[in-house]
Amino acid sequence: MTGPFSSELAAVRAGFKAIMADNNKQHYKEFGFWVIMKIKADKSGVNFFYTDIVDGGSGEVSMTVPHEMVRANCHTHPKRYTTGNFSTNDKKNFKMLRDKKRAMAFYLLTPSGSISVANEEKDFPGGKDVPWS
Ligand SMILES: [Zn+2]
Repeated sequence: MTGPFSSELAAVRAGFKAIMADNNKQHYKEFGFWVIMKIKADKSGVNFFYTDIVDGGSGEVSMTVPHEMVRANCHTHPKRYTTGNFSTNDKKNFKMLRDKKRAMAFYLLTPSGSISVANEEKDFPGGKDVPWS
């Protein structure tokens, strides 16, 4: 787990940057991680962390939901994806988590290197652009 970060988005960006910093390995394989929220020890607020990065191997990444307060599901799409969109499975996972676990944002690092977010079912498949800074 890496952090703390002051916001969900800061943790998302840092996780994606860590993947890209490793020889842009996201061009060839899919990777994913979660962003979790923790209450500060002195209860003065909350911090955000990203979990260990999971390697999807030759297919789509599959990740176990952590026990902590999950805020976001983040993953990459390699260059073999022809669009910058979320996949049909991504939408399926979003609905499954929302209905069986908890609602959370889905962030995608697209094949062209931009960040896209889906906060609601209607945001799939295109997502909304998220700036890098
Ligand atoms: Zn996907």
